[in-house]
Amino acid sequence: MDNEIYLDGNATTAVLPAALRAATEAMAERYGNPSSTHATGVKAKALLDTARERACRLLGAGPGRLMFNSGATEGIQTAVLSALCAVRARRTAGEPAGTLLVYGATEHKAVPESLAHWNALLGLDLELVPLPVGHDGRHDLAALRRLAPHAAFVCTMAANNETGVISDLAGIAAALADSPALWMVDCVQALGKLPLDLAATRIDYAPFSGHKLYAPKGVGMLYVRAGAPFTPLMKGGGQETGWRSGTENMAGIAGFGAVLAALEPGSPPDGATFRSHAELCVFRDRLADALCQALPGIVFNAPFDKALPTTLNFSVPGLSSKELLDLFDAAAVRVSAGSACSAAKAQPSHVLEAMGLPEWRSSNAVRLSFGPLMEEATVQEACARIARCGDALRQAGMLGEPTAARPDGLLQLSAGGSHTWLVFDAASGSCAVIDPQPALEDRIGTLLRAHGYREAVRLSTHDGTGWPATGDSLGLGAQCLRRMASGTGRLCYLLGPDGEAPRHAFIGAADPAGLAHLLPANILLCPGRDARPDAPPALCSVPPANTAPASLAGMHLDAAAVASLLREHPAALLVDVREPYEHAATARFAGPRAVSIPLSRLAGELPAWLARAERAPLVFFCRSGNRSARAAGCLRSLGYAEAYHLQGGIALS
Ligand code: PLP
Repeated sequence: MDNEIYLDGNATTAVLPAALRAATEAMAERYGNPSSTHATGVKAKALLDTARERACRLLGAGPGRLMFNSGATEGIQTAVLSALCAVRARRTAGEPAGTLLVYGATEHKAVPESLAHWNALLGLDLELVPLPVGHDGRHDLAALRRLAPHAAFVCTMAANNETGVISDLAGIAAALADSPALWMVDCVQALGKLPLDLAATRIDYAPFSGHKLYAPKGVGMLYVRAGAPFTPLMKGGGQETGWRSGTENMAGIAGFGAVLAALEPGSPPDGATFRSHAELCVFRDRLADALCQALPGIVFNAPFDKALPTTLNFSVPGLSSKELLDLFDAAAVRVSAGSACSAAKAQPSHVLEAMGLPEWRSSNAVRLSFGPLMEEATVQEACARIARCGDALRQAGMLGEPTAARPDGLLQLSAGGSHTWLVFDAASGSCAVIDPQPALEDRIGTLLRAHGYREAVRLSTHDGTGWPATGDSLGLGAQCLRRMASGTGRLCYLLGPDGEAPRHAFIGAADPAGLAHLLPANILLCPGRDARPDAPPALCSVPPANTAPASLAGMHLDAAAVASLLREHPAALLVDVREPYEHAATARFAGPRAVSIPLSRLAGELPAWLARAERAPLVFFCRSGNRSARAAGCLRSLGYAEAYHLQGGIALS
């Protein structure tokens, strides 16, 4: 596989080599407990003190305190607990304390979740109020001025993790001038990217995470303004002068210290050079140009002049974030669909929703982010790969621009548990569309336009609409479609070569069991709906009465087992079931060349495979092993026992 280009710096970063060395040295040589009074402990303590002094200088902590901890989530808990305990004490003393917990509507989930958690746990019953943001992602300062007199605690961020939008901290400070509120600023995404001079502000708490800036995971810092209320989250051995008990994560702190040393003006170790804002803007502009060239219609979801140059958040009409992520991943460019914590959940971004962006943009956003150690050569290679991604989409007809490729056979498109089937006939350039889903209309139009197909007919299994007035069969080039009642007023359509027995049946929402007695035994049933809404999109099956339960034994192979199976069976076929644009975006495969038969086109290939007298092994693979497992499982359920897949996909091989 290609060398990866990692453009997900807002999720986490690689560890700086100097930080890796410092962490290793701390474990191997300075392994003492900094609380021990012997020489080994003293050496460890010196390391701790040096890292802290550096951090204080860099962040302008002044008389404030910087404590090391496990990361920003812990820092946020500690700040929230401290602020809420102070509010409780003020209330008890009859002092003005405010009743509102105000947080930016685009905060990282750690903030509102912690506020709700500690508010409930402490029984304070304060009201949580999201502070709206404008279309540019900046806080609504007029709203903040209205809330400020009643606010007990205000939480905002220095820069947003999804969009890079930089907050107007001076404006927020001015709005809070006469407020009793304590103020936390989540500085996670600002470290190393924005100048910070904390003690010169009225910020009470500022959490940081090391791994967002080339330090190891599991180490962070919390700044606490001199005189700001403080309640320890953890009590115990009294480390960090009693503010954060527990033996310090010395390897992490050493690593973080090395990053801070590299950040300090004048002393970059290893030539690690943090880029200036202007240099990063040039990189951002080059990446943005490459994206605009590759992805027609792209919209950027945050204004460049108000955002960190290291974050590009964008949406592309007609392309889902899942499709774009799979595409970039195939080109070995790692990007994400928003914050890493919510990456596994396919939900619209709460950040983009709060900015009032249209639903398609907040549901289909992609975030490309990098750190301030970005290299010129990496930007150049990223731009080349972005161009390759654009070409791959174009070839696959996903951009609607004419392409020479002419798909033939079946294509299954899925949306929300329902399936639309396209029957392409390359010779005649005509296409039948069966059960078109409204959500797929744009995609259908784009594909037909790009591949130069004419929509010959669109049929519904639900009510039979679209069928020509007479006859029960319909020619589509060399293919023939027949209609058949499938019960309760519904229809199914049988497809096969003209003059031969049908091979596929498009059954819509009909229950396959109910059709068993009506259809030929080995016809392939193409579903119009999934049996369960939470199930992955269904593939072909045969009428249930005609199958024995499939054995999946030995189906899952690791990379070594795939290699040996291919050696033993020269006729074995390696099948890439990713989408054609993913296949095209992959520069090269380490092993033998694979044929591209996307899962969405598997149905069309099945008759030929199943009719083989000699069944050569079929080894399916995809990005992570999910689609390939479904393809191999489908083949096995149809009686093709020699179907296998690469477990874990190419991501692990
Ligand atoms: N705040 C912001 C803005 C973040 O981006 C993150 C991580 O994504 C966090 C807080 C939480 O940081 P961690 O998971 O390192 O504790």
